[in-house]
Amino acid sequence: MTSPLRIAPKASRLFSLANLCMFFGMVLYFYRSDTVSYLHWYFTDMLFTFGFCLLRWGGLHLFKQKLTYQTDLTIFSLTILLMLLIPPQVAYASYLMIIASFGSSLLFFFISRDNYQAIRKSLSIFYSLMLTLPFILATLFFISRFALLLIFTEHQPIIETLTTLKSPVVLWAYIGFILSINCVLFGNALTRLVYKIHKLAKKDQLTGLWNRHALMTRLDLVDALWHREHQAYSLLLLDLDHFKRINDTYGHLCGDAALQHVATILKRSLRKVDFICRFGGEEFLIILPATDAEKAYFVAEKLQAQINQNNCKWQQHTIEVQVSIGYATIDQSLSVEQLLQLADEGMYCAKQQGRNTISTLTPPQNTTT
Ligand code: GH3
Ligand code: MG
Ligand code: MG
Repeated sequence: MTSPLRIAPKASRLFSLANLCMFFGMVLYFYRSDTVSYLHWYFTDMLFTFGFCLLRWGGLHLFKQKLTYQTDLTIFSLTILLMLLIPPQVAYASYLMIIASFGSSLLFFFISRDNYQAIRKSLSIFYSLMLTLPFILATLFFISRFALLLIFTEHQPIIETLTTLKSPVVLWAYIGFILSINCVLFGNALTRLVYKIHKLAKKDQLTGLWNRHALMTRLDLVDALWHREHQAYSLLLLDLDHFKRINDTYGHLCGDAALQHVATILKRSLRKVDFICRFGGEEFLIILPATDAEKAYFVAEKLQAQINQNNCKWQQHTIEVQVSIGYATIDQSLSVEQLLQLADEGMYCAKQQGRNTISTLTPPQNTTT
C-alpha cells in the first residue's frame, strides 16, 4: 500500500513479501489433511514463520532501528529444525503447533516491542499502543496457544479447531488478523513519514543541524526549566571570521564545505543535551543547559581551540577557519530575547577585539571580559 507513495521502499518490499508468505501459508494451511504432508505442515509453518521474520525486518527498516537478522534467523531455524523431528501430520499436530507457536510468539513479542518503542518517539502512549495492538494480540494468541497445548496435550477437539481453516470463524479470524496487521503497517509508514517531515522542517539542509525554527521551541523549553528549577543555562553565538573571503577565494562550494566542517566539530565536541543550531549564514547558536557563565567560557574556549586546530580540507586546499564567540548566561533580570541579544552583542564585541576571541557582556553593568 505504501509503495506508490514511495514511503520507505525497502520496508514496503519486505512487508509485501511478508504478506505473500502469509497468503500462501494460509492457502496451504487450508488444505491440511490427515495424511503425512511436508508441504501442508512443514512448509506452511516455514512460510508463516519466515513471513513474521519479514514483518520484523520491514519494521526495523521503516524506523531505522538496529537490524536483527541473526536473532530472527536463529528463531526461524530452530523452529523449523525442531518440527522436522517428527512426521508432519494431524496425529502429531499438538507437538508441531507447540513449536510453531513458541517461535511465532517470540517473533511477535520482538515486533511489538520494536514497534512500540519506535512509534512512541513521535506519538502518545495511547496511539503507540493502538498502532502496536495487532502485534500484541498476535503475541498473546501464540503464547496462549503454546501454553494451552502444553497443558491440554490430549484435548483433540481444541487442537482440531485450531488446526483447521475450514471453520469459517477461524478462517475469518485469520483474514481479519492479516488485514489489521496491514492497516497498522500502513499507519506506521504514515507515522514515519510525518515524523520525517516534522524533523526535516526543523533541520538545516546543509549542515544537518537544527534551524532557527527549532531553536525558539527549545529555547522556550530550557527557559521554562530554568524558571522552575533555577538551573542556569548559557548561550554561545559563534560567527566565522572573514568567511566571505573563503567564498571569494575558493568559491561557494568551498564555503559550504567549511560550514559543514565546523558543524561536524561542534557536534562531536558537545554533550548530547546541548542544542546546536545554524542561526544564520555563517553563525551558529548553541544552548548549553545547566551551564553557568564560568563553564560556558570553558566550553567556548574548547570549541575555539578545536576549530583552530582542525583545518578544513577541500579539494587540494587546506582552509583555516576561525570563529568569534559571544556568550551569555541567564539570570533573573533577563528574558529569552534579551539573553539572545546579549550573546549577539558579546559576539560583536569579540569581533571588535580582533576576531578569533571570546567575549561576554554582563548585565546590567555592561562590562567586557
Ligand atoms: P566577519 O569576520 O566580520 O564575520 O566577516 P564575514 O566575512 O564572515 O562576514 P560577512 O557577514 O561579511 O559575510 C558572511 C558571508 O557568509 C556572506 C555570505 O555570502 C556567506 N554565506 C552565508 N550563508 C552561506 C552558505 O550557506 N554558504 C556559503 N558558501 N556562504 C554563505
Ligand atoms: Mg555573520
Ligand atoms: Mg562572519
